[in-house]
Amino acid sequence: MTEEKGFQSDESANEHITATDSPLTVGKPLKMWKKGEVQPMTTGSTILVIDDEDIICESCRKVLTKEGYTVEIARDGLSGLKKVRQLRPDLALVDLKMPGMDGMEVLEKIKEIDPNIVTVVITGYATIESAVEAIKRGAYDFIPKPFTPDELRLITQRAFEIRRLALESAVLREEKEKMKRNFVTMVSHELKSPLVAVQQYFEVILGGMAGEITAEQREIMMRMSHRINRLLALINDWLSMAKVEAGKLVQKLEPLDLAPVLRRTIESLQPLAAKRGVRIESAFPDTLPVIRGDEDTLEEALTNLLINGIEYNRDNGVVKVGTEEEEAHLVVKIADTGIGISEKDLPFIFDDFFRVKSKETEGIMGTGLGLSIVKRIVEGHSGYINVTSESGRGTIFSIYLPKIRVDHR
Ligand code: ADP
Repeated sequence: MTEEKGFQSDESANEHITATDSPLTVGKPLKMWKKGEVQPMTTGSTILVIDDEDIICESCRKVLTKEGYTVEIARDGLSGLKKVRQLRPDLALVDLKMPGMDGMEVLEKIKEIDPNIVTVVITGYATIESAVEAIKRGAYDFIPKPFTPDELRLITQRAFEIRRLALESAVLREEKEKMKRNFVTMVSHELKSPLVAVQQYFEVILGGMAGEITAEQREIMMRMSHRINRLLALINDWLSMAKVEAGKLVQKLEPLDLAPVLRRTIESLQPLAAKRGVRIESAFPDTLPVIRGDEDTLEEALTNLLINGIEYNRDNGVVKVGTEEEEAHLVVKIADTGIGISEKDLPFIFDDFFRVKSKETEGIMGTGLGLSIVKRIVEGHSGYINVTSESGRGTIFSIYLPKIRVDHR
């Protein structure tokens, strides 16, 4: 067997500690690929050798290029890190003793740049301490000098196996995160679809399309339908809450004139107001100072406040929608002439699931999540919400949304 330059000859390989024999080797033994066998992750994979010894660098290049890897060389720690940033190699072989930045520091920096890059330490003085220290700083394994080509091949194969596992688990982690993010959406969709279907069957029966039903059966079915409606409202609120909590809102903020959103919201609630005998009065300019907002969620917040203003009102009551401009904020005020909220209940109305229990609120359907959602939406816009109320006279909600500063220089 010919001796490959820079390495100990293959014949004497057994006399030395190899990476697999080493008690310091971490992880379980992995598949050893035969020379020349096509290995996964070889083609197109990059190995960076950071070593100040020419002979080591060139010998590594020769052996590993033959194996199908792309090999890059750096002669010191600093240029090595530069190459790590540029090339994002799969594997880095790092000499521990180099002039300038020492190998231990290089190891740490590589982990900071990309924790998925597998690092193996090349060391001329394989003390237990230095190897343990290197592994503590994120190295996967070490290879003592001098080493044979086979030892080098073996350790790179093992390192690549680790790299493959690390990448696979990163993909699985990402999938799990995605599942977690979409969990509420998925579950609520699964819950909603059958409920909507049941609701439609009720409509068919109650509409007489499935034959005659008795007054008693009708009464029971109406109650069932009402319960299903409440459940659907709860799922919708839960969904809104999850969306706001997932922080998706903040990424979507863009310059927005709230006037058309307000007009649209009022328009859509006119039928409900008419049904309850409540009048909506609006007084705000055609265009409003620009804010940074998410149109959909702001519409949802305004809808919630307006519905409350209508629902917790009285016959011939009024809901007034107006705006004010302050130095830093656009203020939207929604005031009603309804039942009001007592001093005792007022501190809790933004809490999740809180509902006032009184004779007047008894028949009004709700989940107690509406105002919590409104508060989260407003806070997601870096704004805040205020409430003043008087029992029996009415309630005023004021939303403060930061205006976009116009630079007049
Ligand atoms: P709900 O789904 O019960 O309406 P909200 O979170 O929107 O839940 O409101 C919480 C509670 O605050 C309501 O149950 C109601 O008692 C009270 N409330 C909210 N808005 C008003 C209002 N405009 N006038 C009187 N009471 C209100």
